[in-house]
Amino acid sequence: MTGLHHVTAIASDAAANLAFYRDVLGLRLVKQTVNFDDPGTHHLYFGDEGGSPGSILTFFPHAHAAPSRVGVGQVGETVFAVPEAAIGYWTERFIAHGVHFTTPEKRFGETMLPFQDRDGTRLALVALAAANALPAWTGDGVGAAHAIRGIRSVTMWIAAGDRSAAALGKGLGFRELAREGNFVRFSAGQDGAPAPVMGGAVDLRVVGDFLPGRMGAGSVHHVAFRAASDADQAAMADRLRQDLGIETTEQKDRCYFRSVYFREPSGVMFEIATDAPGFAVDEPVETLGSTLRLPPWLEAARPDIERRLPALEPLKAAS
Ligand code: ZN
Repeated sequence: MTGLHHVTAIASDAAANLAFYRDVLGLRLVKQTVNFDDPGTHHLYFGDEGGSPGSILTFFPHAHAAPSRVGVGQVGETVFAVPEAAIGYWTERFIAHGVHFTTPEKRFGETMLPFQDRDGTRLALVALAAANALPAWTGDGVGAAHAIRGIRSVTMWIAAGDRSAAALGKGLGFRELAREGNFVRFSAGQDGAPAPVMGGAVDLRVVGDFLPGRMGAGSVHHVAFRAASDADQAAMADRLRQDLGIETTEQKDRCYFRSVYFREPSGVMFEIATDAPGFAVDEPVETLGSTLRLPPWLEAARPDIERRLPALEPLKAAS
């Protein structure tokens, strides 16, 4: 078993971030917490009803973050899966909400609608028949016929493919599925099968001498891959070390999963996160995301943290 677990990106305004992902894209805010390494900053998790692995996009909003520039060594695009007939709905919704988007395009035979959030984060929807059967979160204004099911893929911008391909393949268990133009698709699925809908693909986009990327608002900070258990995570770390000479960090407790990190050969920060314990570990599924949750080691500082965090709610999305 493998696949994407979550994608984490940098935003500017926290309230605007919430208004876009919840009120425009219709994702559920499944966790409202802080960056454990920088508790003066929010960490907002968006996903499906329960925050299933593969459905999760998270943000560190920094009010004064400088704009980013996409380039080599970065994730240049995060792609959400929607049902097959949903592209027309989303085009109209983007027009109604003033969302920047471009003409639908085909990649590996699939129809994609590229768009950007308010910080310029590059996103896309991909229309997949297999998405129709997956559960939909409909609590934030988008019905089941059109709702985003989860993250299908990320696209990494790289100078040349071989070493990143080895990290994805030997290290993380992905398989090369297809090539098209300067894209190489890696799948988390079985040989010969289409890439799974939820977290099932990574595309390498070979961009040669393109400029390196610059981190900031609108860029992806890291991509996390699934581990079924701590033992599975340790086995992946062993393979990375033995086969590729890549060292991972020690395991960090992220409350909702346990993680190790490493920089893959093209420069993108990768994380390997356990599926357990999940987002219901500190609040019921019914009320996920409704209040600020802190890990036990930060609870004593709650009054100070709450005073420093920017307000999330004053902005309401125009409807
Ligand atoms: Zn992460």
